Amino acid sequence: MQNDVLEDVSAFFDWYKTVYGNTVRFDGRVDLSLSADIEKTPIAIKQQAAPQQASVKKPYIPKKATKGIDELLIHQGNAEMKAFYHEINKCAKCGLGHTRANFVFGMGNPQADIMFIGEAPGRDEDLQGLPFVGKAGQLLDKMLFALRFKREDVFIANVLKCRPPNNRDPLPDEVMHCEPYLKKQIKLIQPKVIIALGRISAQVLLKTQDSLGSMRQKDHSYENIPFIVTYHPAALLRNPRWKASAWIDLKKIGGFINGQ
Ligand code: SF4
Repeated sequence: MQNDVLEDVSAFFDWYKTVYGNTVRFDGRVDLSLSADIEKTPIAIKQQAAPQQASVKKPYIPKKATKGIDELLIHQGNAEMKAFYHEINKCAKCGLGHTRANFVFGMGNPQADIMFIGEAPGRDEDLQGLPFVGKAGQLLDKMLFALRFKREDVFIANVLKCRPPNNRDPLPDEVMHCEPYLKKQIKLIQPKVIIALGRISAQVLLKTQDSLGSMRQKDHSYENIPFIVTYHPAALLRNPRWKASAWIDLKKIGGFINGQ
């Protein structure tokens, strides 16, 4: 029991270390005093040079722009997923098929237990053909690292596979045409838990107008799979105070993949 608590506290500090970029040392002595230099977070963490800091891995950053399915799927051998990619990657069922730079299928492990879903590609994603790149994507990688995962361990996708102009919200007809692709991806991956990143993706998939705050507090399922609602990484970049709440949301993942 005591070890469980220590592991939880240690993981919590890792979260702050990776997300806030501050050095964290956990050896049983914790400074809980407030500190203004950690973005007004509720808990200040004693900053000391930690020997293990050198072993912290850099977040996963795709090496180059890619549109090929062989580069999007970390673990090969999923013929159905590859065939599905080739089936839909030239889709123009809605107007976004004519304005996109790149179709953004999603990427990761097609046998992943964990699936993250955003609303739609943004500018960087559209240019590179990859989901969650740019600053928000880098923060997502850090969040995964704090949870002891890498991008290769999960699958990341969006509700829409093409960028809406000026990053506007998805329109109903775009969702109507594109959501079946997401459902097919979920069917092929069969994750144990899905995490909706941001209000829009959660509202679109849950067919509700509830606020993010309200959705975060409730249990949901999507396609009969447990569904967690949390902040979009871009929102966390704008409002760092929400990172502590995001940590609480993401901690729920362990309960679904470990059967806790
Ligand atoms: S957003 Fe979806 S439905 Fe619309 S063109 Fe792109 S892939 Fe097709």
